Amino acid sequence: MVKAVVGANWGDEGKGKITDMLAKEADIIVRFQGGANAGHTIVNNYGKFALHTLPSGVFYDHTTSIIGNGVALNIPLLFKEVQEIVSKGVPEPKILVSDRAQIVMPYHILFDQYEEERLGKNSFGSTKSGIAPFYSDKYAKIGFQVSELFDEELLQEKVKRVCETKNVILEHLYHKPAINPDELLETLHEYRDMVKPFVCDVSLYLHNALKEGKEILLEGQLGTLKDPDHGIYPMVTSSSTLAAYGAIGAGVPPYEIKQVITVCKAYSSAVGAGAFVSEIFGEEADELRRRGGDGGEFGATTGRPRRMGWFDCVASKYGCRLQGTTDVAFTVLDVLGYLDEIPVCTAYKVNGEITTEFPTTALLEKAEPVIEKLPGWKCDIRGIKNYEDLPENCRKYIEFVEEKIGYPITMVSNGPGRDDIIYRNK
Ligand code: GDP
Repeated sequence: MVKAVVGANWGDEGKGKITDMLAKEADIIVRFQGGANAGHTIVNNYGKFALHTLPSGVFYDHTTSIIGNGVALNIPLLFKEVQEIVSKGVPEPKILVSDRAQIVMPYHILFDQYEEERLGKNSFGSTKSGIAPFYSDKYAKIGFQVSELFDEELLQEKVKRVCETKNVILEHLYHKPAINPDELLETLHEYRDMVKPFVCDVSLYLHNALKEGKEILLEGQLGTLKDPDHGIYPMVTSSSTLAAYGAIGAGVPPYEIKQVITVCKAYSSAVGAGAFVSEIFGEEADELRRRGGDGGEFGATTGRPRRMGWFDCVASKYGCRLQGTTDVAFTVLDVLGYLDEIPVCTAYKVNGEITTEFPTTALLEKAEPVIEKLPGWKCDIRGIKNYEDLPENCRKYIEFVEEKIGYPITMVSNGPGRDDIIYRNK
C-alpha cells in the first residue's frame, strides 16, 4: 500500500522526522515533487542531518530511496548529499532516479538569482535553487529529462536550441554573460555519468512493488499553503505539495494512496514572503524561534530565521482538507512547555466578518487573527510515551486543536528523535 507524508502549512512541520520514523516499516520512500530548495532535518542514531533531495527514509538499510519524476533533480547536489551521509557512517543507500525526472540546469540557478535581483524589493524570497525557472521550462517543454542524457544526438541539438533562447534573455533582460553550449554539453555529460547507475523506470518499479505487497511512502516537501493552486499564490512553490500530486510525481495510481498523514506543527513558522495571519514579532517571536524545532527555527537549506506565529486553526483545517488527511501528526509540542498561556488563532476577521474558512490571497492579506488563549502546562513533556501521561492542559491543547481542524490527531511528536512519538488510537 501507499502512504503519503505531507505538510498542512508552510513547510517545516517536521515531515522529515515523521517520514524517518515511518520508514522503519516501509520498503520504498519516494520524493515526488520539489527540489533542493527546502530541507528536512532529521535526528537519529547516526547524528543530525539536513536532507534536501534524498528521501528521509534513506537511513535504513532495508529501504529503497527514490527520486520520482515530479522532482526538480539537481544531480551534483544529490550525489554530494549521498557522500555526506555515507561519510557520517550511514550505510550506502539504495537509490533509484526516475528516467522521467527532469534536471535542474546550472542556468536555472542563475536565472533564479538574476530574477530575484531584478525584482528587488518585490522579490519572492526564493532560495535561489533554480526551482521556479526549472518548472517554468518543464511546462514550456524545454526541460531536460534524465532519459535524454542518453541520446547524444538529441542532447546536442537541444542544448544548442535552448542556449539560443536563454542567451537572448541573458543578454537583453539581465545583462549577464551568455551560456557556452559546449561547456553546457560537457556538464551534461558529467551529469549523465553520475546518474547512470541509478536510472530506473520508476512507475514500473512501483507497479511491481505494489503487486508484491510492498509498502511505499510518498514524502512531500513544504505544505498545502505553498501549493501553486491551493496555496497563497503567488507566494508559493512551483510544484504541487499535495498528496494527490504524489500519484503523478511518483507514477502510482491515485487509489493506491490509502493513508495521508498530514504533519502539523504545534505552532506556526514560515519562510519567504506572503501573508501569515498569526505571525508574531519582537521578543515573543524571538523566544519561540530560539526554543523551536530542534535547536531553533532556522531554515535547513538557507539558515534563514523563520517567521514565527501561533497555531493557526483556519490555515491548518484548510491545509488538512486539501491534503485529504486521514491522520494528523502533531509535532514539536514539547517546545510550548515554557508558556503560561498558549495563544491560538481560531478564526480570521476579514472586512469586519469572522470566518474559519481560509480565503484567497487578496482577502488573506486583509485578514486579522482572532486569538483564544489556552492554559499552558509548564513542564517538559519529552520522554512521555502514553497519551494519558501527558499533563491535562497539554491534552486539552491537542484536543482543542483537533476539534477546530476536524481531523484526527493520531500521532503526537514530543521531541526530534525517532522514538519521541505518542500514538493515539482513534
Ligand atoms: P520538515 O521540512 O517538515 O521535515 O521540517 P524541518 O526539518 O524543517 O523542521 C522541523 C524541525 O523540528 C527539525 O529541526 C526537527 O528535528 C524538529 N522536530 C521534529 N519534530 C519535533 C518534535 O516533536 N519536537 C522538537 N523539539 N523538534 C522536532
